[in-house]
Amino acid sequence: MSDAAPLPLPVARSIASLRQTVGDWRANGLRIGFVPTMGALHAGHLSLVEMARARADRVVVSIFVNPTQFGPSEDFSKYPRQERADAARLAAFGVDVLYAPTVDEMYPAGATTAVTVGGVTDRLEGVCRPGHFSGVATVVTKLLNQVRPDLAVFGEKDYQQLLVVRRMVADLDLAVDIVPGPTVREADGLAMSSRNAYLSSEDRAVAAALPATLSFVASQLRGGLDAAPLLEAGRTRLLKAGFSEVQYLDLADAETLAPLDRADRPARLLVAAKVGATRLIDNVAV
Ligand code: AMP
Repeated sequence: MSDAAPLPLPVARSIASLRQTVGDWRANGLRIGFVPTMGALHAGHLSLVEMARARADRVVVSIFVNPTQFGPSEDFSKYPRQERADAARLAAFGVDVLYAPTVDEMYPAGATTAVTVGGVTDRLEGVCRPGHFSGVATVVTKLLNQVRPDLAVFGEKDYQQLLVVRRMVADLDLAVDIVPGPTVREADGLAMSSRNAYLSSEDRAVAAALPATLSFVASQLRGGLDAAPLLEAGRTRLLKAGFSEVQYLDLADAETLAPLDRADRPARLLVAAKVGATRLIDNVAV
């Protein structure tokens, strides 16, 4: 099929055409669900689409590789882009419109406003990726204002991002329900991610140690043991398995992400580690 062939579902490239479509639905009293993504869709994304479909009359999925959430030395330019294959999957999952704006549409010349969320952004990804969450919060605010959905589904795979979005929606009085979606995993436990496409077969074998280590450490933490030695043992296990760097392996309060010495309240175990040049993140409930 040539690049000029139409995509198998309606596509909005501009805010104006998106608003036309969604405005008509809203005028008819339909409930609108939204799943924001950066594309290179996998079964994790599609599980969020199914959640939105079960809760809404119409579903909008966005694909936008947001430049402002990538650091200068990160993978923005090489991030996988495969719109035609993504559109086919979204059509098969009954998505009503694909919203795929251009960078110029999202950030016209002269735009200078950003959204900054405090507190929950102070640690973990907020430290490893300075500016990342401001980019996320700004684009999510814009997308929510553009789509104006009744509900939006976000994956627990990006647990800190989910908390950032929840905080922002509460603080800015945005009229949208944020629905969390569980992490979808490969058969060996590796969390599905568009970035898994970067892994060589050797790196892919090493990557399986990430979910294995998380579930091992989480099971020990559930016994009420002190976190520090367990986290240290987990880091060592990842390095022995072939990870080149463990940026963090931390136990945190499930709501605030404040560090915890033991799992004496609802907690989350979160990890970021590099295998070769690829940075992977994951987390589990404790
Ligand atoms: P991304 O395209 O990576 O920006 O992700 C778009 C949405 O899909 C975010 O809400 C992610 O948390 C979610 N997501 C990514 N990977 C998974 C997964 N393996 N399972 C469930 N949701 C996911």
